[in-house]
Amino acid sequence: MTEKLLTKRRYKDGDNKHRPWVEEIFTADESHKCPTYVHRAPPCQGSCPSGEDIRGWLNIVRGIEKPPADTTWQEYAFSRVTEANPFPAIMGRVCPAPCEDGCNRNEVEDHVGINSVEQFIGDYGLKHGLKLHPPGEDTGKKVAIIGSGVAGLSCAYQLRRQGHACTVFERQEKLGGMMRYGIPGYRVPDEVLDGEIQRILDMGVEVRNKTRVGEDISFADMRAQFDAVFIALGAQSGMALPVPGGDAPNVISGVAFLQAFNDGRLQHTAGKVLVVGGGDTSMDVAAVARRLGHIQHKREHDRPENIIMGYMAHDVAGVAQRQGADVTLISRESADIMPATKMEVEHVTQEGVKVKPGLLPVEVILGDDGRARGVRVIRTDWSSGQMETVEGSETELECDLLVSAIGQRGDLSGFEELDSGRGLIDADGFYRVKDHPDLFVGGDIIRPHLLTTAIGQGSIAAEGVDKFLRGQDPAKRPKVDVHQFNLLDKLRETGKAPSEYPHVQDRGTCEADYAVHNYEDRAFVEIVPSDELFLGHFKYEARNKRKESTITADSVLGSFGERIEGLTEEEAQAEASRCMSCGMCFECDNCVVFCPQDAIFRVKPDKSTMGRYVDTDYNKCIGCHICEDVCPSGYIQMGLGE
Ligand SMILES: Cc1cc2nc3c(=O)[nH]c(=O)nc-3n(C[C@H](O)[C@H](O)[C@H](O)COP(=O)(O)OP(=O)(O)OC[C@H]3O[C@@H](n4cnc5c(N)ncnc54)[C@H](O)[C@@H]3O)c2cc1C
Ligand code: SF4
Ligand code: SF4
Repeated sequence: MTEKLLTKRRYKDGDNKHRPWVEEIFTADESHKCPTYVHRAPPCQGSCPSGEDIRGWLNIVRGIEKPPADTTWQEYAFSRVTEANPFPAIMGRVCPAPCEDGCNRNEVEDHVGINSVEQFIGDYGLKHGLKLHPPGEDTGKKVAIIGSGVAGLSCAYQLRRQGHACTVFERQEKLGGMMRYGIPGYRVPDEVLDGEIQRILDMGVEVRNKTRVGEDISFADMRAQFDAVFIALGAQSGMALPVPGGDAPNVISGVAFLQAFNDGRLQHTAGKVLVVGGGDTSMDVAAVARRLGHIQHKREHDRPENIIMGYMAHDVAGVAQRQGADVTLISRESADIMPATKMEVEHVTQEGVKVKPGLLPVEVILGDDGRARGVRVIRTDWSSGQMETVEGSETELECDLLVSAIGQRGDLSGFEELDSGRGLIDADGFYRVKDHPDLFVGGDIIRPHLLTTAIGQGSIAAEGVDKFLRGQDPAKRPKVDVHQFNLLDKLRETGKAPSEYPHVQDRGTCEADYAVHNYEDRAFVEIVPSDELFLGHFKYEARNKRKESTITADSVLGSFGERIEGLTEEEAQAEASRCMSCGMCFECDNCVVFCPQDAIFRVKPDKSTMGRYVDTDYNKCIGCHICEDVCPSGYIQMGLGE
């Protein structure tokens, strides 16, 4: 048997005659297949751990999806974002935006600036006092939430929408977890943080702050008072440096350093600061150290490590001359595999931090006073795919303060029975704790990751809690587990819902008004890839980037302002217009214009909505698939027929 060779040739030998041009154009390719309108999830949404309907709110911002009559587009966009994520102003500032890595527009020239538009919507919401979705009807059920980080607050928000009473237990005085005490205040200003948290509390969430579960109240006693519990303790304990001398008094953890800074206690640092770690936390420590600078001739008590460990400093920073701190950051990973984003590394480098990848600490060198005066490091080699150390490459680096930011774990005192053995708690796919039907868990205490991840988990866990409280089994989670556009809801919102199904036998649905004819929703199982889009439709358009102030090594000292400036309304709309609306019609008219048979028509205004803009006359369609070829968003697929 001769094997058929793969070929890119379109015509066979001798295939060199064509039919009359009119025929060629209008009936060249016939089939029994006709267009079907298929909603699929865009990759941005699939890559957003909070599962935001990104394409949806971008289409609202650019004016394609229209708000109801009494709502502005800004309010409508805010309500769409906050279906999934009640923190758009925060996320727009500090989320590393995995959605943008996934964006199909990267195949044209550059991704859509998703989180800059998200920040615009979030800031608009705060400025105009917009409220979140209202609480549901009271169910009489009570849920305890331990921890007021984003996981706990996201869960409380979604549970209130279901009508369950929520009480948040928080060991700190203020709410917000790492958002407040980890991420430096100049990246998320307090008024943004307070505003977005307050909106959730305004839904009727009770707070018991300064209450540590496991200490001020036992976990068992607390659990007995509630119908269900969501555990969102976060990973608050920094890991110690696992080398000899790692317990010296001036070796402290990155989270303790940042908490002291965010509390307002730490106002200066040491002259020579060495930060160990290549992730977000170490970048924040290094950036804060450069901003704080150091002060000479301080007293013993005013040493940064004493302040970090709780000693109240004198206001030396106010009276003494601040000087720049010499900050070095080492990571055992090589530059190409450091966990921090490239942008973070660029920023700290610009600000004068000496970033030295590929160095592993082997010993803390102690001075006569028992304090760390340096670190012995060895060069690492990752060329085999795994870390190996290079023999004979040991060197020493000096320091006055050593900050270890090599990872965090949970503090499970009082919760020992739930410890997975790694200082974390294991969860199943519904964020339930095994063998404890009333216990749910989410956020960093499962695996330290990102804010958006914790928000998504809090939201999915809330669905599980709701089902548990209603005595229902948790529904199987969809393959693409995100907050989806729902055509039926949209039709209801616009007063165009299909009529009641009459339960009579019928043939075909194209004339029936009880069915959404020829529409298929595959968004729960399929993400539309870029090669199913007609990318030729999109012209090169540069991104509308946010303005960023340049902070240099010379200007970093005392620079505690926000680095980025939000987009203006015009810029946000222009940026949203770059979205290609992957997997959803955006009313470009290509199919209507290019159909040689005039088979595709616009749906009449009294029936038309987002996602229901065009339809096909099957008496005219010859199945030539031109509409599918020219649909930029991959919304049309040839179906039906054989
Ligand atoms: C320095 C740093 C910078 C970061 N930067 C970013 C970033 O730029 N972008 C990003 O997306 N992510 C970032 N992250 C990660 C992000 O902050 C976390 O993923 C997120 O905060 C996890 O949320 P959570 O709700 O699970 O936990 P947390 O935010 O840690 O909140 C847990 C809460 O539980 C409370 N708690 C703990 N134990 C008890 C108890 N027994 N009783 C009562 N209350 C208790 C804690 O006080 C805390 O308020 C950063 C993390 C750090 C440490
Ligand atoms: S939360 Fe993060 S991943 Fe999700 S849309 Fe916003 S920036 Fe993108
Ligand atoms: S082009 Fe728009 S819909 Fe497509 S992946 Fe990017 S942001 Fe999402």
